Amino acid sequence: MQQSLTSKDNTLTYTNNREFAQECDAKDPLASFRDEFLFPMDQNGAPLVYLCGNSLGLQPKRTHSYIQQELEDWATFGVEGHTDAEHPWLPYHEFLTESMATLVGAKPSEVVIMNTLTTNLHLLMVSFYQPTKTKYKIVVESDAFPSDKYAVESQLRFHGFDPKDGLILWKPREGEELCRFEDLEAIMETQGDEIALLMIGSTNYYSGQHFPLKKITELGHKHGCLVGFDLAHGAGNIAPNLHETGADFAVWCSYKYLNSGPGSLGGLFVHERHANNPELKRFTGWWGHNKETRFNMRHEFDPLPGAEGWQLSNPPILSMAAIRASLDVFMEAGFENLREKSEKLTGFLEFLLDDLNDPRIVIITPRNPEERGCQLSIQVKNADKRLHTQLTEAGVISDWREPDVIRVAPAPLYNSFEDVYEFVQRLKSTLH
Ligand SMILES: *Cc1c(COP(=O)(O)O)cnc(C)c1O
Repeated sequence: MQQSLTSKDNTLTYTNNREFAQECDAKDPLASFRDEFLFPMDQNGAPLVYLCGNSLGLQPKRTHSYIQQELEDWATFGVEGHTDAEHPWLPYHEFLTESMATLVGAKPSEVVIMNTLTTNLHLLMVSFYQPTKTKYKIVVESDAFPSDKYAVESQLRFHGFDPKDGLILWKPREGEELCRFEDLEAIMETQGDEIALLMIGSTNYYSGQHFPLKKITELGHKHGCLVGFDLAHGAGNIAPNLHETGADFAVWCSYKYLNSGPGSLGGLFVHERHANNPELKRFTGWWGHNKETRFNMRHEFDPLPGAEGWQLSNPPILSMAAIRASLDVFMEAGFENLREKSEKLTGFLEFLLDDLNDPRIVIITPRNPEERGCQLSIQVKNADKRLHTQLTEAGVISDWREPDVIRVAPAPLYNSFEDVYEFVQRLKSTLH
């Protein structure tokens, strides 16, 4: 079987064989970036088929030297490293801002790297979830990542509301897997007056569905609600164009598609229209204070303008060094190039899965490339966790979600067309 994928400026016709995959790799202008990463190996020393960048991205080879540099500067300078290190620690987060802002489509002043995702979500809800007696409900997509749901429920309780009443789920319809925008519209029509906040994952971790961020923001604002997004599965995967969406705030992590290492720091976005609003409550710390007077330690809190004003603590430099290494790789590759390759790579995966012609296999993720990133969520009917175990034994690193879904995410920075081909071959043998 052959199938054509037509994008803006090129048509690609997929063919189901290894030679075709190898040809795509030979023509791929980003192919050399694979060599920038360290792949886990099987017992024979061959790289595993790693399709799990949606959970933990692979380590860029350069991360080691970026972290080593900070260890050496710490050894050489001690506390003076704050000003004398090759990349001084005092302003270290600033070295990350511009690249990160580019990736999420924000102005540099709207972005800062700090803390971890769930912490940042709480801090921004302190500012952007200010319920009244009558307007207090929060909408999340159902099947939101558990941590987001726990955070939102605890915010409701913290303000004296019962999540059973205050939490509204935007759900797929009975028998469907994806959320429909018109159903969110219906929620807003009927309960908009009681809703204070829309807190939506930009790209759902389970289904891989990417939501229309701008439309959601406009809908929320029309009903006087604030709108925030969780880009954990969006940052480094899709181009969220945060500033342009008009969203009030967003949070994300850097260890999934952003390849910055387990538990590495998160990022946040605050739209510039909120930057200097003195009415906005926030939890504060010294790193959010005016840089000129921070070390006088005697001044009233004087917040930095922009997202930096939400910082609390002096940040872990070793983790930031890993983020800097990763962002440098992204900037060298160019995000538009990555996204173009990503659509082809995931399109190839979709084509190969369809070509299996196996009635047990259903792709849950939307078919339209604009409604997804690189991940495909593959439901395998009547399968259980043993399927995932067998795939792992066959040298495929993927991700299993109960009851019957394999999530695979070919990352355009380091995955090849042959990886995708190999995965489908191994899945096929596992299913037989
Ligand atoms: C990965 C992920 C998290 C994890 O939160 P941490 O605070 O970084 O542990 C939260 N929400 C979503 C949507 C995620 O995908």
